[in-house]
Amino acid sequence: MNPKNYQRELDRILEELNVRQGAESKKEPKRLFLHSCCAPCSSYVLEYLSPYFAITVFYYNPNISESEEYQKRMEEQKRLIDSYNEEQKGYPICIVEGDYESEKFFEMAKGFEECPEGGERCFRCFEMRLGETAKRAREGGFDYFATTLTISPLKNAQKINEIGQALSEEYGVEWLPSDFKKRDGYKRSITLSAQYELYRQDYCGCAFSKAERIRKNGETNMSHSVMIDGNRFSTLEEFYTEIDHLLTKDLGWKTGHNMDAFNDLLRGGFGVHEYGERLHIKWINAAKSRQDLGYDATIAYYEKMLTTCHPVNRKSVEEKLAAAKEHRGKTVMDILVDIILLPEDSGHDCTLEMID
Ligand code: SF4
Repeated sequence: MNPKNYQRELDRILEELNVRQGAESKKEPKRLFLHSCCAPCSSYVLEYLSPYFAITVFYYNPNISESEEYQKRMEEQKRLIDSYNEEQKGYPICIVEGDYESEKFFEMAKGFEECPEGGERCFRCFEMRLGETAKRAREGGFDYFATTLTISPLKNAQKINEIGQALSEEYGVEWLPSDFKKRDGYKRSITLSAQYELYRQDYCGCAFSKAERIRKNGETNMSHSVMIDGNRFSTLEEFYTEIDHLLTKDLGWKTGHNMDAFNDLLRGGFGVHEYGERLHIKWINAAKSRQDLGYDATIAYYEKMLTTCHPVNRKSVEEKLAAAKEHRGKTVMDILVDIILLPEDSGHDCTLEMID
């Protein structure tokens, strides 16, 4: 059975709401009780949904094992909401803090401590947080409840939506389905996090996920990091040369200078980081790169591709070229960021921090 397209389901609901709210413009907006795990994940979701709903953010995360970390994420959440409200991005946003009952989380996780992130412990963790959200949504008379969790490429959106739907039936409050990472939602959350200078943690939250992250980074937090500096290149070709310089060592030959070769370099094994080892990329002067690798560079990229592509691909390249000429579709910069951030089938494990 094909997995459901939750983004499409959300589109349908938003479309209906838009029509209804337009027709009954004097009526109050629907009220959404939105569970949020942290400010960075909520940044895109709030920007996206606040024009449709009166949102109350529910910060309920007893899974965060260290109280200092819990508090830090909470403060960042409040700071972001204050900024959005000041800018009047949509309907005003409120925040409610749940109980910080970490003992309840540890009790729930008993016997599942060794599960890798993404396994059974996480499903129980989703149930615990969404169960409390549904209960409080019913008590508060909200129209819908939802969560920011589906924005993470590391979390199973199908499972989260199944849990939300089951809780909706149990508590009698509508579940707002989502797959927020779609439509470049995850990428947008990175941009917003940079823009609002949000604290971005590098692990999910519980002590087990932190230990797993440290283990993956080689016990001593040895995750490699490189800095891409937008001031060091102005064209795609120069970008490839810079990447060769950053991610290969003593190779003595030039890599393919194309998108596939870039993906291969991110996987590692070229003298800088080991194959499959986590890589943190800090891209500074990113605004300049967005300009340099914008639509002009994208037109040049597709024009060059037309001279070498297989005849069966020609039509699709021509369509992308036509779109770029009208400043539509992804730019070369967008494609590079997608390659870095989308882990599915990429064979690498990269995080990205962009600083304009
Ligand atoms: S890894 Fe994240 S989702 Fe999974 S149990 Fe820990 S805090 Fe919960």
